[in-house]
Amino acid sequence: APHVASASRYDDVPFLRAGASGVKLPRISLGLWQNFGRDRSIESQREILLHAFDRGVVHIDLANNYGPPYGAAESTFGTVLDSDLRRYRDELFVTSKAGYDMWPGPYGDGGSRKYLMRSLEQSLTRMRTDYVDVFYSHRVDPETPIEETMQALVDIVRSGKALYVGISNYPAPLARRAHELLAGEGVRLLLHQPRYSLFDRTPEAELFPLLRELQVGSAVFSPLTQGLLTGKYIDGVVPADSRAAGSFFLNESAITDDYLRRIRGIDAIAREAGVSIPQLAIAWVLRDPVVTTAIIGASRPAQIDDAIGASRLELSTEAIEALEEFAAP
Ligand code: NDP
Repeated sequence: APHVASASRYDDVPFLRAGASGVKLPRISLGLWQNFGRDRSIESQREILLHAFDRGVVHIDLANNYGPPYGAAESTFGTVLDSDLRRYRDELFVTSKAGYDMWPGPYGDGGSRKYLMRSLEQSLTRMRTDYVDVFYSHRVDPETPIEETMQALVDIVRSGKALYVGISNYPAPLARRAHELLAGEGVRLLLHQPRYSLFDRTPEAELFPLLRELQVGSAVFSPLTQGLLTGKYIDGVVPADSRAAGSFFLNESAITDDYLRRIRGIDAIAREAGVSIPQLAIAWVLRDPVVTTAIIGASRPAQIDDAIGASRLELSTEAIEALEEFAAP
């Protein structure tokens, strides 16, 4: 029988408004980049998704090519939507993207109107839904005029197939231009999606000041640096069930002496504060409201609980200052 959602699902994770928009997002979001392809069982994937929803993590972040293989994460999501969450579709905030390699030939990559429009159609079919909440241009395509990419987003919103639009991985000057082009057509840029964590603070220099100025929200990805900001690698050993053991995107070469020095310093600060390393790392990205939500990945339900615990933590000034020594410069 279809899942019956927990009646207390809005009691756990706080929500925050994205910039000056009308949209509030849970401060913890779940991304399906990893763990939702055909390399995992649908039972474990269903369990994670339903657990997230039951605790108010209603924002689910996808992209066309999440898998493996490409498209599989959207198909997994569509399967669970159909079996269990169909009647909750309008309680869910579901995003997808196009920008990176998806299908062969020049129309399956980049930022052309052809790619974005046709990719969204394919995504909707896989996800078994007639709209996404946000459709993102996943990256800047230096070969496509930004005017064409933004016009495609405008037309997608007008078609009703996406309610809002976003951009991901755009450096600040192009984010400003994207915002301006969309605004010129009366379309709000809802979210920017940058990478942000204690180990990658790039957005602090230019992007976050811009987003504050424009009153645009952000949904930051890899707040745990794919699991490096946890205690699992602290002894220099890669556990068999961790991402670094079996992923194309993270391997044991990340476990350097410099990493071990930093993570051990962060661990000491976490212990002092009475929290876990992932909780400290997530509370740290959420300390500034320019970050609307942290998009985590999860290979098991308990990781979602950890993150939700972090979403209500207030870090002391001392802890934030102490972290400077171990964070990325
Ligand atoms: P994280 O940095 O949160 O890493 C998630 C991984 O860390 C989990 O899969 C798990 O790995 C481990 N983990 C999470 N919580 C805990 C915990 N409490 N204790 C121990 N280990 C934990 O994020 P991701 O790198 O997965 O990225 C999240 C999402 O961001 C993606 O799914 C995607 O939606 C989005 N994203 C967007 C990009 C873009 O270009 N726009 C690029 C990359 C990501 P394990 O248990 O397997 O070791």
